[in-house]
Amino acid sequence: MSIETDVVIIGAGPSGLFQVFELGLLGIRAHVVDSLPRVGGQCATLYPDKPIYDIPALPVCSAQELIDRLLAQIKPFAPTFHLGQEVVELEPLDDECFRLTTAKGAVFGTRAVVIAGGLGSFQPRRLRVPGAQRHEGQRLHYKVTDKERLRGKRLVILGGGDAALDWALELADIAARVTLVHRREEFRGAPASVTRLKHLAAERPDRVAWLIGQIRGLVEQGDELTGIKLESLGGESHTLPLDDLLVFYGLSPDLGPIARWGLAIDKRQIKVDTEKFETSLPGVFAVGDINVYPGKKKLILSGFHEAALAAFAIQKRLNPEVKQYLQYTTTSPIMHERLGVSGVL
Ligand code: FAD
Repeated sequence: MSIETDVVIIGAGPSGLFQVFELGLLGIRAHVVDSLPRVGGQCATLYPDKPIYDIPALPVCSAQELIDRLLAQIKPFAPTFHLGQEVVELEPLDDECFRLTTAKGAVFGTRAVVIAGGLGSFQPRRLRVPGAQRHEGQRLHYKVTDKERLRGKRLVILGGGDAALDWALELADIAARVTLVHRREEFRGAPASVTRLKHLAAERPDRVAWLIGQIRGLVEQGDELTGIKLESLGGESHTLPLDDLLVFYGLSPDLGPIARWGLAIDKRQIKVDTEKFETSLPGVFAVGDINVYPGKKKLILSGFHEAALAAFAIQKRLNPEVKQYLQYTTTSPIMHERLGVSGVL
């Protein structure tokens, strides 16, 4: 049986969540589908404990707090979430509607679609050494969901990007020892983080270290991962003991099924205009990290702006005869009613 609705949002990251809000202000309800079992996209999955500093009017908040705040903000609009199911098919129908199908067999009939799919069905790049897979979720991790679990541990972090550097800095205070291993001298991450890490390593060599080398294998005792085999730039081999191994090799961008929906794509991103953030298929919009247009910056605030304009375009599509007015949330009685704040000073 098909769920009939006005809008389906694909992706429950920050852009998809704020899309619910912007549509809600205009009186439009949405269903939200995400392949992950929880809302929050990259924020909740990849860096929930890390601080974000560039959300307007929020000088600092953790990534998870941002998601929690977005959930609180959209509460009046009661979106229906369908989590743990990837949208695998999007099919335009004759009546300007769309049929969406998820991998679990749920079917939606909808008048508009917003793809807020971020990096697509993203997966962290895996460590490619024999036996790595069987330690995943034990002592080998591709994300940190509970940093307290790492307290007092000897940690080895692999990678040279922001995630590897940021976690090395953040965990330096709680781990017994943090060793960052990168395959070459140049880091991809922020130069300020590299400088901080090198300072820390010089100040507290017993707690923080960084090494240049290639991982060549794992050291195991019974079923347990207890170290890694490293080859230095000069070709010497040595082993590095550890309690936990954190691998931050980045994400492999993979649009997944979205690539097969016939939308205009440029380098694995969906092309949109900058007036409505509509794709090459009228009625299908794309906001957040998944879209591309001249000057695009993959920032959370870009997704917020795009969601606002897409909402107006969707309102026009759903109700072409209704004249659109820009209303302020401060003063609009209809918006107060929708927000459930009528009569509140
Ligand atoms: P995402 O957060 O990627 O969410 C997309 C969602 O869509 C995912 O949950 C995915 O599962 C789902 N999805 C994809 N395809 C499908 C499908 N077919 N069916 C169902 N679901 C699907 N940005 C900032 O502005 N400031 C920062 O300080 C900052 N720090 C960062 C630090 C790190 C370590 C990282 C990795 C990113 C950082 N970013 C930061 C970037 C920011 O997280 C992204 O710009 C933001 O998450 C994009 O939001 P989104 O909603 O567009 O996509």
